[in-house]
Amino acid sequence: MEISPVSSVSLFSSRPVENKKATNPIVVKQPETEQKTAESGALRAYFLGGNLATVSFGGFPVSTGGFITKKMNDVPCSCCGGRMVRNQELSNKAREFANLRGQDLSDKIHEDKDFFRTPQRVVMMLAAEEAEKNPSFDLARAKHEIGKNLKERTQNYCINSLQAANEVVKANYGEDCATSQILQREMEKLKKGNIGRLGLTEQLVQQQSSLSPEIYETVLDAAMNIPVDFNDVRKAHGQANGNAQSIARELLKPSMQTIEHIHPKSLGGPNATQNFVAECADCNNPRGNMSYAQWLKIHPEFPLKAQDHIEWFQQQVVDGKIDSRYDDYGVDVKETLSKESKGIIELKVLNPEKIKELREAKKLQQEANTFEENSSQNKEDNE
Ligand SMILES: [Zn+2]
Repeated sequence: MEISPVSSVSLFSSRPVENKKATNPIVVKQPETEQKTAESGALRAYFLGGNLATVSFGGFPVSTGGFITKKMNDVPCSCCGGRMVRNQELSNKAREFANLRGQDLSDKIHEDKDFFRTPQRVVMMLAAEEAEKNPSFDLARAKHEIGKNLKERTQNYCINSLQAANEVVKANYGEDCATSQILQREMEKLKKGNIGRLGLTEQLVQQQSSLSPEIYETVLDAAMNIPVDFNDVRKAHGQANGNAQSIARELLKPSMQTIEHIHPKSLGGPNATQNFVAECADCNNPRGNMSYAQWLKIHPEFPLKAQDHIEWFQQQVVDGKIDSRYDDYGVDVKETLSKESKGIIELKVLNPEKIKELREAKKLQQEANTFEENSSQNKEDNE
């Protein structure tokens, strides 16, 4: 199916762009020896559930700081799909915005928009718009300028985002289809100053089966450009102060990489690879002990992005950028997520044997792509 191009408005791209500048080899440290007995005890208690035969124990105990993604840049968040920044890289990343003005600043913001979470991304994209019109504006000046009519501008940004998605939907399903109707009604609401995505995403999730996976993700990504509440944008704008670099730094903070305990730590979730998934601060911090069913109302894109994340992860393992101790990670996390979400999230993953095979093939300079393998494996599963 042909998807119409969306150019004028930034839809949050579903997959992170490879960072071509990241040529530094990833240093894989040996695992720190930790109190294996205590950890394994906790693991057994959580995972066994009386059904030893079907449970895999491929993972290993590790601290959140020792988990492999913590050593990597540009990791896609497993919940929102946005690109993440490591704590120690935050200032460097912010500095990239410091001396840019006008069109250069706008280009940089567009290129890096996936590093910002919804309210912060609204601020950055509006600043980009302003910088485009004013060649002398740096981020501080542009940010100041958009504060004068922030709500109106946010409204228009949200409308444009939905409009672009609606064009794609209309081109493929016609304007009378339910999804287009939903989007049109939402744009009317936005015109009246009613900014907030929760009602919208709840309706869109119901349309999943009537749309192709690509168009469903396009529509959901567009909806995720709308903040949960306009006050979140007001707050993000208000908190980012000082020079261009400190503004960028403040707006980047929610994208800092954290490690999520799938089964919450406070409920006995262990520090172990099976229970870990990389998530940005914005997705991890507010969740607390909220159930996945509740969480999915705020982040309906989570199952899609978790799938993207695991495909990314397994590709890194095949490519040798993540070491072979993580061969079982996909299978293990699939099980933990399935259990924790009560079957709402069922990842499609490669089993460790397949990963070994692909890695060997890669070593022999053959083409190895986990993504293709994934879809052919699923086909086999369905037969
Ligand atoms: Zn996130």
